Amino acid sequence: MPPKTVPTHMIKKCIVFSQNQVVVHNDDQDIFKLPQWQMLQDHPELSAYQDQIVTIAVAPDYHVNMIDLRQATFDDADYVSAGLRDILMGSADINFEYIAKAWQYALFLRTHQFCGQCGAKMRQVGWEMARHCDVCQHRVYPRVSPCIIVAIRHEDKILLAQGNRHTSTNLYSTLAGFVESGESLEQAVHREVMEEVGVQLKNIEYFDSQPWPFPHSLMMGFVAEYAGGDIKVDGKEILDAQWFHYNALPNIPSKISIAGRLIEHTQKLITGS
Ligand SMILES: [Zn+2]
Repeated sequence: MPPKTVPTHMIKKCIVFSQNQVVVHNDDQDIFKLPQWQMLQDHPELSAYQDQIVTIAVAPDYHVNMIDLRQATFDDADYVSAGLRDILMGSADINFEYIAKAWQYALFLRTHQFCGQCGAKMRQVGWEMARHCDVCQHRVYPRVSPCIIVAIRHEDKILLAQGNRHTSTNLYSTLAGFVESGESLEQAVHREVMEEVGVQLKNIEYFDSQPWPFPHSLMMGFVAEYAGGDIKVDGKEILDAQWFHYNALPNIPSKISIAGRLIEHTQKLITGS
């Protein structure tokens, strides 16, 4: 539960989810503006959710709460709904990481109402984000799915691939895939690359990570050098893969995503800049 009163100098925002979208102010600004925290307490549409407020972030000058309306719509002419990807690609008046965290919590709460072990109703744990079964003591936490993403270079070229979801935009990107049970990150890098494009790697180095709330991935980025093999795409997840000269790249992801930053970093590794 949030504190009863919040100092007036604080930035106070609330993230309201309705279905799979975020409630934002309905105005013509270039920036997505989220509702003020006070709206949670005052708005008649939200009064039924007062006991379901989830605190997302608290800092000395910052307080972000979340309410999930689940499938209900939010009927107020001053507000509209925006997609998470649209907010990520645009800009919002709060840091996107809070929205990403809130969405992962909302999805967790939606999908863990009942115990996966015995089927009893679960309850919210008061002091941590978890659901607990009082019948069999099973406790669950928000799911985080580790994914590796890797930029591969060879001499002055970068290996980029087109996934089956990206044919309409003709987008080429780095390779990525979920880490499997019992696998290290490095093993996952080798396996995914071999499965998707059939090449071997060497000199794998960690780059950076990025939470990716679609729906609950943690992208862990690596750079690597080509070690051998001819490109042979799997034809399922990957439809095409090619070596591109670092200075003549196709349509690639923006630097908002770790894929875009991995490609930029690889260009620098190739040029030594
Ligand atoms: Zn149970």
